[in-house]
Amino acid sequence: IEAGAPVLVVDTVGRTFGGLTALGSVSFEVRRGEILGLMGPNGAGKSTLLNVLSGVTKPSRGSITFRGDRIDGLDSDRVSVKGVARTFQTVRLFWQMTVLENLLVGAHERLRGWVPAFALRLPRHRHDEARALTEAGSVLEFAGVWDERTRRASALSYDSQRRVEIARALMTRPKLLLLDEPAAGMNESETKALASLITAIRDSGTDVVLIEHDMDLLMSVSDRIVVLDHGEVIATGTPDEVRRNPAVLEAYLGS
Ligand code: ADP
Ligand code: MG
Repeated sequence: IEAGAPVLVVDTVGRTFGGLTALGSVSFEVRRGEILGLMGPNGAGKSTLLNVLSGVTKPSRGSITFRGDRIDGLDSDRVSVKGVARTFQTVRLFWQMTVLENLLVGAHERLRGWVPAFALRLPRHRHDEARALTEAGSVLEFAGVWDERTRRASALSYDSQRRVEIARALMTRPKLLLLDEPAAGMNESETKALASLITAIRDSGTDVVLIEHDMDLLMSVSDRIVVLDHGEVIATGTPDEVRRNPAVLEAYLGS
């Protein structure tokens, strides 16, 4: 797929919870080679949209097409196999495991059946075991948390936990990575460093959808931005276009 061509096409996607419309009718696309920023006031539907894209929840209507295949209606593990990985607004790690173990659990998604075989130390899986370890090492280094590899996830700083969660998502070798407020709880210098990591992920060939509360981060790393308000897209464009859009200003001032 050439740079700039659509890889993820979201067409009139809606999601209701009982009588509440979290997403009305949302349409946009993610293009090859880009970081697509997703912004909007609290309750706009950003996390719900990521849940729908990653198969965590099903859309009530509309279609989602990833690289030519319909993925709406697929369970999250199937979506993951298609090449879509994600992180959560609240960090999700196996807190009692080490950083390295957390990543090897991620590798399981790709090397199906590998983890039980590893536990049993079956020789025919030694090759996969070695490969996953090598991969985990390079992903940890890439994400800047190699030095933390033997520490328990629960003992890490907040910044490192966020990075390990990203590293874990990268273990599935995703074509598309969905990040839900990855800078939440980070200080200014940590946020700057995170911006470099997100850009490096994009430059390594993984397209990115980034939800971020930190406007400076979102504006500085996004190639394009989609703005949600009350479950609808109210603006789409470059960071400059979005910044100057009166509807966007109004959505933020009004909330
Ligand atoms: P954002 O991430 O933009 O802050 P969310 O997607 O978390 O917004 O929420 C959008 C709306 O959907 C909110 O009104 C929220 O309360 C509601 N919502 C989200 N998930 C659920 C759920 N599982 N059940 C009921 N309502 C939900
Ligand atoms: Mg959210």
